[in-house]
Amino acid sequence: MKSTKKTGRAHAVSDVGPPTVGLVSLGCAKNLADSEIILGTLSEAGYKTTHEATDADVLIVNTCSFIGAAKEESIEAIFEANRARGMRRRDKEQKLIVAGCLAQRFRKELPDAMPEVDGFMGLDQVPQVAEIVAGVWAGEGCKNYTTPRARYLPAWDSPRVRLTPPHYAYLKIAEGCNHPCAFCVIPRIRGGHRSRTVDSVLKEAENLIGNGVKEILLISQDTTYYGRDLSDERATLPELLRGLDKVGGDFWVRVLYTHPAHWSDELVEALAESKRAVKYVDMPLQHIDDWVLSKMRRETTEKKIRELLKKIRAGIPSVAVRTAFIAGFPGETPARFDRLMAFIEEAKFERLGIFSYSKEEGTQAYSMPGHVSARVKQSRFERAMELQQRIAAEVQRSRIGMRLRVLWDAPGVGRTEWDAPGVDGRVYGRGLEKAGTFSVATIEGSTDYDLIAKGGAIPKEDF
Ligand code: SF4
Repeated sequence: MKSTKKTGRAHAVSDVGPPTVGLVSLGCAKNLADSEIILGTLSEAGYKTTHEATDADVLIVNTCSFIGAAKEESIEAIFEANRARGMRRRDKEQKLIVAGCLAQRFRKELPDAMPEVDGFMGLDQVPQVAEIVAGVWAGEGCKNYTTPRARYLPAWDSPRVRLTPPHYAYLKIAEGCNHPCAFCVIPRIRGGHRSRTVDSVLKEAENLIGNGVKEILLISQDTTYYGRDLSDERATLPELLRGLDKVGGDFWVRVLYTHPAHWSDELVEALAESKRAVKYVDMPLQHIDDWVLSKMRRETTEKKIRELLKKIRAGIPSVAVRTAFIAGFPGETPARFDRLMAFIEEAKFERLGIFSYSKEEGTQAYSMPGHVSARVKQSRFERAMELQQRIAAEVQRSRIGMRLRVLWDAPGVGRTEWDAPGVDGRVYGRGLEKAGTFSVATIEGSTDYDLIAKGGAIPKEDF
C-alpha cells in the first residue's frame, strides 16, 4: 500500500482570529479524496491552511487503518505530530485532531488510548470539519466527535482543494463496500456501499476537465459495484464510461479498484470502445487457489477468473492488467502458494502488487485456523515479488521500439496509459515536455518497471 503525505490548511474563530490549519493525509486515494474535501470545507468556511505542519495552529492527521502496516504508520504520524508540537514555543499552542479510518475503526478505544489528542472525527464528520476545528480550537473539551456506521457520500459540489498535481484527479463514484471478504475490515470502517448519481459524477467530471484535468481516476472500494444500490438504470459503470465519452476535451479516464465478481461482457465492450478510457484494468484477484478463494469469500473461482481474463485480453486489445495477491492467508499451504506462483508465471500480469496477509481484528480470517508464520509470509512475499520483477522487466522490454502516448507529470517524467500515478511505472523523456501535456514518445530503453523515451534518462536519485 502506498502512502501519500500532504499538508493543507484551514481556520476557526477566536479573539485573535481564526487558527491556521494543516493536514497530513495518509493511506489510499480514497482517503486522499476525503482529505481534499476536508480542506475544501475549511477553505469555504474561511479558514487559512498551511502546507507546513509546524505552522498550523490546528493539525489534522487523516489516517489509514486497512492493514497492520498502515495502522502503524498512522500511529507513528500522530506521535510524531505530538512530539513536534511539544517543541513549539509556549505561546504557540497547537491542537491535534485525528480523522479518518483509524479514528472511525477504533472510535471507542482511541480517546482513552491517546489522551494527548484534542479531537477525533470519523468519516461522517468530513462535512462538519469546520465546526469541529472551531470547537477544538476553542477548547470545548469534547474530544470524540465520531459516530458509528459511516454513511457519508460526497456530492459534485462538495468543496474541494485538490492535493494531486493539477492535471490529474481522483473522482469517488461510490463509498463503502458490500463484499464479505474475510481478510478485510473496510466494510466495518467505511460502511455499506452507496453510489453517487450519474449526474453527480458527470457534473464533477465536467468541472474537473474544465479546470484543466487531463486524467480522471474513477475510484471507490469496488467500482464495478457502481449503481447496484440505485434504481436508475443508467447508473452502471459502462454507462458512466459512455457518458464521459460525451464530455468535450482531451483527457484520459482510468478505472481503478474493480472486482472480478462484477465484470460483465458489457463492461469489457464499453472499456474497449471508450475514446477516453485507457486500456488498463485494475482488478485485485487476491488468490487463484479455489480453497483459498472460498475461505477469503471472494465470490469467484479459478475457472471464472481465467475465463474473465481471457475475455478481457481478447476484448480489449493491448490492455495492461494490474492485479494484487495476498501471500500467507490462513490455511495457505506450500502447495496452494505454489499454485499462485504458477498462475503469476502463466498470466504475465503487466502490473502486480503482492501483500503479506495482515491479521486484522474484526475480520473473519482473524480467528481462522492455520495462520502462517511471519517468516513464511515474508519468504512467500519475496518469492512472488522476485518472480514478478522478471515478468515486469520482460513486459517493459517488449515496449522498446513502440511509439506511445505519454501524459507528462513533470518535465521529463511521464506515464503511458498502462501506468496509474503512484503505483505503476514511469516514462523518462527529454525533459522538455510541459507537465500536464500529452505527447507521443518513441521508447528506446527499459528497466524492470520503467521506460526510457528517445533522449530521456533516468535521474540518478531514482536508482
Ligand atoms: S471488495 Fe473485499 S477487499 Fe475490497 S474493500 Fe470490499 S471487502 Fe475489502
